[in-house]
Amino acid sequence: MVKNHLMKIGIIGAGVAGLASAVRMASKGHEVHVFEANNYPGGKLSEFTLYRNENSSENTEGYRFDAGPSLFTMPQYVEDLFKAAEVEMTGRFAYQKSDVVCQYFWDDDTRLTAYSDTDKFAQEVENQLDVKQSVVKNALAEARRKYEQAGQIFLEKSLHKAQTWFSWKILKTMLRMPTYDIFKTMNRTHEQLLSHPKLVQYFNRFATYNGSNPYKASGMLSVIPHFEHGIGCYYPIGGMGEITKSIYQLAVDKGVYFYFDKTVEKIITEEKKIKGLKVKGFDEEIFFDKVISNMDVYFTYKKLLPNIKHPEFILNQERSTSALIFYWGIKHIFNELNLHNIFFSKDYKTEFDYLAEGTVSDDPTVYVNITSKRTSKDAPHGCENWFVMVNVPHNSGQNWEALVKKTRENVLKKVSNILKTDIAQLIEVEETLTPLSIESKTQSYGGALYGTSSNSLMSAFLRHKNFSSTIEGLYFCGGSVHPGGGIPLCLLSAKIVDDVM
Ligand code: FAD
Repeated sequence: MVKNHLMKIGIIGAGVAGLASAVRMASKGHEVHVFEANNYPGGKLSEFTLYRNENSSENTEGYRFDAGPSLFTMPQYVEDLFKAAEVEMTGRFAYQKSDVVCQYFWDDDTRLTAYSDTDKFAQEVENQLDVKQSVVKNALAEARRKYEQAGQIFLEKSLHKAQTWFSWKILKTMLRMPTYDIFKTMNRTHEQLLSHPKLVQYFNRFATYNGSNPYKASGMLSVIPHFEHGIGCYYPIGGMGEITKSIYQLAVDKGVYFYFDKTVEKIITEEKKIKGLKVKGFDEEIFFDKVISNMDVYFTYKKLLPNIKHPEFILNQERSTSALIFYWGIKHIFNELNLHNIFFSKDYKTEFDYLAEGTVSDDPTVYVNITSKRTSKDAPHGCENWFVMVNVPHNSGQNWEALVKKTRENVLKKVSNILKTDIAQLIEVEETLTPLSIESKTQSYGGALYGTSSNSLMSAFLRHKNFSSTIEGLYFCGGSVHPGGGIPLCLLSAKIVDDVM
């Protein structure tokens, strides 16, 4: 195996993990070529603008939207990338911590402001829900304990290398396993810790951060609230698109070659070793020493490696949920709304039962993200850019036209009732994203946001590893492989590829 030599590396896809892998590889001096099917970098982590008037391109007339991710946690993994590249981050990427993480609304007029600071949040819960402060503090302390003792190790290392398992830290973690609620559901864990139904619903919501179901996923996932309340919720100055732009620019500055509008059609192998890539638009096959696929691992096998034996058991794991998004330009300012807002469903269990059946409840939880609250130029004067998202099942052939129409009406009804304003008449520009368009834009199987779900006890161990055991020189990064979906974990997947290569 070629090791420590300078190599020619091909990367399939310029999603955030593909970009991060490119930076890491180029920083080691390798010659790196990234092929991206779209004509822009970032995959799900991209942005676009809708104009009031089709002929206008004036900033003052436009609504800028982050197309996919809206919540930025664990900024340290972006910082790590700049450190690995030995480039100063200042002046290239900046972010600020949010004091208010999210504003919550219920149909019965209950409102709850989720502060990042634990003491402030516990006080708010006591004021609004009449729950003793110690209850929230205890739940968040538990989340921290799980993260510090176990979560970090399992996220930052390959689970498929022997050296990960031969350490005292892992041994201690394994011995403490029974204390991590792995044999209970996340919902049961929260019911025991918090008891108040609205507080349980609040903590259960964190299962959706990796597209899972709190009534099925293990209690270990109750670690996730620590990401927001312990480590913090952040906002990249200029919007989420800045994450992509800054990492892409870093890669360019490190000498990475990018090819846009270039779909990889085949991974070429010879005697179980990587030989190169067949790329649409290139007459010749392109030779590479190593290939890193940032394409969904399911399609990497099905489309690019049709002639080898596929790890079917891993590939056929249950997919995570997808999303239905309405991008609305709203000609009004709502002072009661924040950057992140949640309008909770009345019956959370029923909502997830519908998702498990492959459909959408008539009373879905609605998430509204408004970046113009932080970056006023993201919307025209006196207006707001609403990114309105509902969790929906991944695509398995549903009638999306009917589901989108029905859900749009239900969302409008719910938000209008709670805000006591007819929202429909305030929408002046509109675009929609469905599981079908997520799949066609990013080649994500079923339009799943986070690859496979974490609904089973063994989910963490049933994600595809970051390297291939059958083809020497083939590696995998991105949301469909270990350690999972979401920006921080995608960035970690690139680090793990770097570690194991
Ligand atoms: P992707 O973004 O999936 O990109 C893969 C890239 O590979 C694409 O650009 C695609 O065109 C390219 N590609 C695929 N096949 C080929 C081929 N054969 N040849 C060439 N190119 C190819 N995460 C968070 O952290 N916070 C959030 O708030 C959040 N919210 C989300 C909301 C939505 C609506 C969505 C869609 C996702 C959200 N996520 C969130 C998840 C997060 O966006 C993803 O986990 C992450 O961006 C996935 O990155 P990736 O590197 O796996 O690649």
